[in-house]
Amino acid sequence: MKVIVSQCLRGVACRYDGGAKPNDAVRRLCSRVEAVGVCPESASGLPVPRPPAEQRDGHVLLRDGTDVTEDFERGARLSLERVRASGALGCVAPLAVLKAKSPSCGSGVIYDGTYTGSLTKGDGAFARLLKREGVCVVTEDVVRSCSPSVEHPVAIVLGSGLGHLASLVKPVRRIDYHDIEGFPEDARPVQGHSFEATVGTIDDVPVVVYPGRIHLYQGYDPAEVTALVRHAHHLGCRDIIFACATGAVPGNANIGLGILTDQINLTGRNPLAGRDVRDLDTPFVGMSDAYTPYLRTLARGVADDLGITVEEGVYAGVLGPSFETPAEVAAMRAMGVSYVGMSTVLEVIMAHALGMNVLGLTLAANECGDPSVTHQSVLEEAGRHADDFERLVRGIIRLL
Ligand code: SF4
Repeated sequence: MKVIVSQCLRGVACRYDGGAKPNDAVRRLCSRVEAVGVCPESASGLPVPRPPAEQRDGHVLLRDGTDVTEDFERGARLSLERVRASGALGCVAPLAVLKAKSPSCGSGVIYDGTYTGSLTKGDGAFARLLKREGVCVVTEDVVRSCSPSVEHPVAIVLGSGLGHLASLVKPVRRIDYHDIEGFPEDARPVQGHSFEATVGTIDDVPVVVYPGRIHLYQGYDPAEVTALVRHAHHLGCRDIIFACATGAVPGNANIGLGILTDQINLTGRNPLAGRDVRDLDTPFVGMSDAYTPYLRTLARGVADDLGITVEEGVYAGVLGPSFETPAEVAAMRAMGVSYVGMSTVLEVIMAHALGMNVLGLTLAANECGDPSVTHQSVLEEAGRHADDFERLVRGIIRLL
């Protein structure tokens, strides 16, 4: 996997002040991918050190008002040529990790041209060009926030037929679900699930694996269904990977592994609706990018590196437990839905509301509307993809 990276984050002394801004999380990522280092300002021929510059009203200005926009745009164009020549733009999931707030590399917010440290919405000249090319551009803060540690293990919640991943954990301790606050005392696992979380490591990466879950269709309420997510958050998890079995909507997806890009909550329930929304400042939570773009992009890149076939698509969560009618399948197809399942959507809402980084993986085990589907056939299809699923998850957490 090739990742475009700001040189100063790798420790190269190319900043305006003559220094670097090495970032441990970015350097660790660079050690595990093929990093394509760029410094647009150096590429434009600007010296090191040089006067600082900021963007205002679409222009890049020095503190004394000198307009250096053309220098910055030339550097951005030359850097784009360099990354194009490297092949980094041709990846299935092009990714760039660029220095935050810079008038060249900044993404989302940049210094506002007042030289007071204030920020404004916008992108640096190079980040803007990369986004136009369809590159997922993130800052070093995103990479750091996704980096696991003993204090911040990766939570992995597994669905039907995917629970075997729990056996990979080198355990430190086990937690009976019934000891988890808010988890219903009477809940018993359905076939293919188990109700004991394992805290430990997979390939030396700290994890907490929840090898099963409960569902609305079993009669549990949204607070109970999302108890594991709140537990993971309390344990310190910042990343949470949801894996679920789904049906593929014919015409929009195929049977096999998929990465969730977004969701439609058709359950009619929401874990943030109610009188007891603990841990949240507000229940009015924006749901853009609920599935963290950085994690989705890493997952796509890992799959490509490992030769694992994955698709991407929107997940529709339904109440169940009955499967979809032909009219419902047609409606899902028209709505742009790729995968339909009976879990995950409420958990993703809760995780996103708690500020967690979310990755959704699915195994589409059958075609929606197929009258022959049974719980047993879902488990059997999951078993056929178990190796690929395991390799994919291990590859992803290794890069975090
Ligand atoms: S932020 Fe970008 S342009 Fe500025 S020094 Fe770092 S790599 Fe170079």
